[in-house]
Amino acid sequence: MGEPQFIPRVPYGTFSEQIHTRSTQHQQVVKAQLELTYRCNLHCRHCYTDPYNNPESLPRELTRDELYRLLAELQDLGVIWLNLSGGDIFMHPHFFDVYEQAYRRGFLLQLYTNGTLFTRTVIQRLQAMPPFTIDVSCHTVNEARFDWFTQVAGSYRAFLRGMALLRGSGLPFTLKTKLMNWNKDELNDLRTFTESFGQSFGYSTSLSPRLDGDCSSLTHRISPEDLWVIGQQKSASEQDEACHAELPLGRPETDRLFRCGCGTNTIHINAWGELSTCTFQYESRVPLRGLPLREAIAKVFADVHKMRYHDDAPCRSCTVHRFCDKQPTQARWEMGDRQAPIPYDCDVAMTRAESAMHQTLVHPLKRHSQGEQHSS
Ligand code: SF4
Ligand code: SF4
Repeated sequence: MGEPQFIPRVPYGTFSEQIHTRSTQHQQVVKAQLELTYRCNLHCRHCYTDPYNNPESLPRELTRDELYRLLAELQDLGVIWLNLSGGDIFMHPHFFDVYEQAYRRGFLLQLYTNGTLFTRTVIQRLQAMPPFTIDVSCHTVNEARFDWFTQVAGSYRAFLRGMALLRGSGLPFTLKTKLMNWNKDELNDLRTFTESFGQSFGYSTSLSPRLDGDCSSLTHRISPEDLWVIGQQKSASEQDEACHAELPLGRPETDRLFRCGCGTNTIHINAWGELSTCTFQYESRVPLRGLPLREAIAKVFADVHKMRYHDDAPCRSCTVHRFCDKQPTQARWEMGDRQAPIPYDCDVAMTRAESAMHQTLVHPLKRHSQGEQHSS
């Protein structure tokens, strides 16, 4: 018998950073998002999955056995972080069967939920097999607005009951806020609520079209002007664009249509078993009901890597691209062309860039039209 071999212990942050660096370099998939269902007890006005939360769409969803098979394939692939999302995960009729199977396979499990469906039983079952983290959405702490936004009376009270159970559970969780045009004045209340759980407050602002291409959800976007005002009120530590400020402005190095990291180390599987690189990448999708996961990934990644910007597309030469959240599929749904700039994203990118760089910049669309005039 040789000397016993010990696996070295490293802090989680070091482990995570090393895995992310290596997996990005070698295009090894280590993260997966699995949408278990489009069922949800709420109907939030900005929700992108809500069009498929109906009896006609539910038969298309993956069965429990298909989910089991996928979990085995994900483990075999080397996936470490597995995000289970919906709809709301607790509306899935076999959620705990799938969850416990995933837990036993050793994934670090991240759960997304609206927080209204926690019961003592749900909490106890999670405590028996704790997830890595639970992300709970919280867009308002005003009862009337909460119920208006979710379109379900009593949902705010259910949310508060759920949060009270979660607070005392010892389970790891985070509150997530989307800042929109209707809740922007609640910033301080949302901050106070979040901090009452011992958490630091943060928010995101990007909204997406619905999964059937309907763009009405975008009417809830916060205006770039309001974002500017709110940005000016932030403390230095809250300036999430600050990291971008260290790099000079310049046109993108690559002509790839997906500059966001799509096609490197992350996959997304929707409730119908279709593989993609992320929730909103609809330019290449493969149904997993007909293909092993590894083959499907090879096909989707190759497709995504092949997609390129035309030389004359404004996004190809945009100097504020690092501050921009534009998604090509969203551009196709909103503007009719995946190469096209999304004016809202341009405005937001400008706001962020000027705020981070402390200088006045030329708007990407104005700059482009000036460039065209000069060259014509
Ligand atoms: S809780 Fe989530 S899944 Fe349910 S309607 Fe709201 S945004 Fe959609
Ligand atoms: S800011 Fe506008 S032009 Fe620049 S990458 Fe974003 S959408 Fe394209």
